[in-house]
Amino acid sequence: MINRRKTSTVTVGKLKIGSDYPVLVQSMTNSKTTDIKGTLAQIEACYKAGVDIMRVSVPDRESSKAFKEIAENSPVPLVADIHFHHMRGVEAAENGASCLRINPGTLGKKEHALDIIKAAKDYNFSIRLGVNVGSLEESILQKYHEPCADAMVESALDAIKILEDNDFTNFKISVKASDVIMMHEAYTKLAKLCNYPFHLGVTEAGPASSGVVKSAIGIGSLLLAGIGDTVRISLSADVVEEVNAGWRILKSLNLRNRGVNIVSCPSCARQQFDVINIVAQVEKATESIARPLRISILGCVVNGLGEARESDIGITGAGSGNHLIYIKGEPKYKAKTEELFAKIMDCVTEVLV
Ligand code: SF4
Repeated sequence: MINRRKTSTVTVGKLKIGSDYPVLVQSMTNSKTTDIKGTLAQIEACYKAGVDIMRVSVPDRESSKAFKEIAENSPVPLVADIHFHHMRGVEAAENGASCLRINPGTLGKKEHALDIIKAAKDYNFSIRLGVNVGSLEESILQKYHEPCADAMVESALDAIKILEDNDFTNFKISVKASDVIMMHEAYTKLAKLCNYPFHLGVTEAGPASSGVVKSAIGIGSLLLAGIGDTVRISLSADVVEEVNAGWRILKSLNLRNRGVNIVSCPSCARQQFDVINIVAQVEKATESIARPLRISILGCVVNGLGEARESDIGITGAGSGNHLIYIKGEPKYKAKTEELFAKIMDCVTEVLV
């Protein structure tokens, strides 16, 4: 069991974020926001993959206008991403944003923050203070001489003070860096200084191959320590990959459960069927299943029986070529190698009915 850090509760549309609620998965569209159809298609694809909240950039007035139609048709609440022009945030609020992501390093004058806070109160939306190591305030950079965890924490604390001084507490915070150790240090330090919910991320994590690993270490280690209430895996990849990676991290930590969890061995000379091939087929055939389902696929009886007893469906390679299939921990079927994949899929249907 992970003991979550106790936090306040923040609302994003109908969703609630904080330690009393499940850790949510977020992603961000990368289409032009003015391409309403393309942006909604990305949101829909992420929704099918299990995203809870989507972020959409609002870089100009045309995007603010497009935001309205996107928000009206989105199946999940939207966060409007604002940099440099705070009025885009006010416009996005008017046009249906459930949350505004503002970056203290790019927001400009304090009066801009006050306009955003007023809009947040008027339209009842939340804010994410999104500190990023790549865009810290000049004054903070001069003080610390270089981007670092303490600089990010100070930037966040300064912004928190402005919000609190104006009686606004419906916000969450992120302190992201592309350096895993730096982001881990920043979140850990900030967690001791406030009780607002945290949105976790390793910013600019890179392509999926390395970005998922960096995110799993950075985000996963914080979640394991109880820190973190929403996550985004920032990948230079299809946005759906971000959602899938987010879910894999949460599932690995038993924080949430969704879809098929395949437990499979790497195979070795003892395998009684081609484990890697069967696993690949089962993974592909079950990727659209949202209901939680544990399938163990092991090549022989060494560990196969133990895992099968703990699974909804458990396959264990048997020397005779009559592989064993367990359902809910009980031995139920035998299948020959050539019929194994089809039999597993029959069992998936049987268990899900
Ligand atoms: S379960 Fe059997 S086949 Fe798979 S790695 Fe272990 S010993 Fe090898």
